[in-house]
Amino acid sequence: MSTAPVTQNRDGDVKRERLTVEGTVQGVGFRPFVYRLAHELGLTGYVQNTPAGVIIEIEGADTPLAAFKKLLEKRRPPQVRFLKLDNTPLTPEGGQGFVIRPSSEAEDTTALVLPDLVVCRDCLREMNDPSDRRYRYPFINCTNCGPRFSITTALPYDRPNTTMARFEMCDACRREYNNPQDRRYHAQAIACQECGPQLALRNAHGKTTAWRDKALLQAAQAVRDGKILALKGLGGFHLICDARNAEAVAALRIRKLRPAKPFAVMYPSLNAVQADCLVLPEEEQLLASAESPIVLLRKKGPPIVAEGVAPDNPHLGVMLPYTPLHHLLMSGLGFPVVATSGNRADEPICIDEDDAIKTLNGIADVFLVHDRPISGRCDDSIVRVMRGRTTVLRRARGYAPLPVVVEHSFAAPVLAVGGHLKNTVALAVRDRVFISPHIGDLDTLEACAAHRAAADLLSRMYRAPADHIIHDLHPDYRSTHMARRCGRNVIAVQHHYAHALSCMAENGVTPPCLAVTWDGAGWGTDNTVWGGEFLKIDASGFERLLHFLPFPLPGGDAAALDPSRAALGMLYVLDGEDAFGRDMGLSRNDAGLMKTALKRGINCPRTSSAGRIFDAVAALTSICRENGFEGQAAMALEFAADAHATTTYDFKIEKGIIDWRPMLRAILSDIDAGATPGAVSGKFHATLAEMIVAAARFVGERTVLLTGGCFQNALLLDHAADALEESGFTVQMHSQVPPNDGGLALGQVMAMASAS
Ligand code: ZN
Ligand code: ZN
Ligand code: FE
Repeated sequence: MSTAPVTQNRDGDVKRERLTVEGTVQGVGFRPFVYRLAHELGLTGYVQNTPAGVIIEIEGADTPLAAFKKLLEKRRPPQVRFLKLDNTPLTPEGGQGFVIRPSSEAEDTTALVLPDLVVCRDCLREMNDPSDRRYRYPFINCTNCGPRFSITTALPYDRPNTTMARFEMCDACRREYNNPQDRRYHAQAIACQECGPQLALRNAHGKTTAWRDKALLQAAQAVRDGKILALKGLGGFHLICDARNAEAVAALRIRKLRPAKPFAVMYPSLNAVQADCLVLPEEEQLLASAESPIVLLRKKGPPIVAEGVAPDNPHLGVMLPYTPLHHLLMSGLGFPVVATSGNRADEPICIDEDDAIKTLNGIADVFLVHDRPISGRCDDSIVRVMRGRTTVLRRARGYAPLPVVVEHSFAAPVLAVGGHLKNTVALAVRDRVFISPHIGDLDTLEACAAHRAAADLLSRMYRAPADHIIHDLHPDYRSTHMARRCGRNVIAVQHHYAHALSCMAENGVTPPCLAVTWDGAGWGTDNTVWGGEFLKIDASGFERLLHFLPFPLPGGDAAALDPSRAALGMLYVLDGEDAFGRDMGLSRNDAGLMKTALKRGINCPRTSSAGRIFDAVAALTSICRENGFEGQAAMALEFAADAHATTTYDFKIEKGIIDWRPMLRAILSDIDAGATPGAVSGKFHATLAEMIVAAARFVGERTVLLTGGCFQNALLLDHAADALEESGFTVQMHSQVPPNDGGLALGQVMAMASAS
């Protein structure tokens, strides 16, 4: 047995330690930082990226070694986040110097693929400096910023495992890349005008008409001229037009077949946002954050943007420029632009320029593209501050694919394929659940292909072929079919149970608890459509303790687009055929068909859906009689509500049923007595909160979860959470993952944790 040389000096004994660092440590300048710190303190050893995280072996006297560990935390680069830091003592080896070892390949991995990072100040300064060699270069980046997830093809995050592999570094870039003192030391996406990706402007026929800066300037001119620009950004294409130009906005709506759903707006600066919107301090932080999401803000008087951007909506979805390319474009324009996903109706966002020219043919007038391929499709994220907390409503760029760390260690990888709407997939590896960026509704072949690609990418990145595949209980979801085609160990999880588990997972809630799970629709264990559920969750599963009185939905799924159908179904339960006397704004033909359907029970599936109750009240109060997009009627009802309503409607709770008939009867008489829609809506929201408290008292669990798409409604959430807290309950809601079906995949994998 050999003895390693152990020396002593006035700083104490020489020691060697191995630090294993997990977290956001790859692709953020962590290794160069460790290198510089070790050199500064005269320590020896090495640092190495491995698929399981960064390993540091560090050797030296006690004092500098202790200083190293302290400064590792204290001075770490801005994007570095530690999830775990393990420390093992080793025998000193007495080597010389400190080196960065080449990355190792290994089997299992829970190292993190970083989300794309917003451009940093240093890079912006260089980009705006005419004497800098990257002046006006739209792909400038460094170890602290730039693309990550959207260019990663495998782990570890090194240039050959990114779509930058095809660009050979020029001598100047290579020198920076290899110089440990340079801020681009080992910046994997390093590039410049000489060697990196370049812009090109294409016309609607796909013909290139300009290159580089000229392409950018001409694209900006097209936007000024009222044209629609398709811009290849970070994780996909944006469709861009002058947000102040009502005609351009209207043209985009017509061409995109998107009549009503609000468009997101990119403003040139925070000041410009503040001129149009109320910006609370937490919202300002979000706008300026490294994630740089779309933040839902309240409009302040009539904004500079056209009414058609977010019609009949008190909110505006706002973001700031986040890539160098966006900064160049927006500083040139100086006014807000619509920046909506570059897709056709419900298809996923386009990522490839040749595809985009075909898919967006007839929508965009010009295409500003570049030759850096996108490997990970990633839409903009959407967040809303509710009850002082950030709630992610669409989780994508900036957040995905960072994992949610859960209090269960999966023995083998588990894949969940999500639901049907707002789909995401999730992969659980040990105690990490990696969630794909938002994919969208699985209504089209393109969406299904993107869904498969997202599942493959996660499995490939983390080299974790899943043992078990989890899907929704709905037999006809495309995600269900995909899971069944995939493999042997396929498990179905009830929709609302998955919502509950998702909320529990991100909040670290242990059962028992009560899950108030309200949404549009989810397949129930009794083969009916659920959606207004009170589930008692315990360690082994769930029990449906209470739910809304079911009602028939004439036309089934078609009712999601037509709030009057839900209203008619509820009225039919209340008054039978007398219900048909009330004017619901239906054509005589439609009304006739629905009456027959209801009387004979043809294509009238019964549902307990809370979302459809919102629709019905919106239709009855004439607030909204057409759902141009999912949730439009419910949103309109929320916006119309008199938020300070204190009186409520009656309801009954009996034999596991929340009977809404007394409420509906009273709503009708309020309407007939001339109550304003706002007053009815306010009272309706307050009543729902009262129902939730009554149900919570009936069930008797201290912890109450508020989950499901209905809890994107800030007024409902506020009323319910306030009332529950006043009655002594502990309320849990979503923050990291959406309350809507975008959060299902997380809950689905957690069902495996409860089952084992
Ligand atoms: Zn930078
Ligand atoms: Zn270069
Ligand atoms: Fe749902």
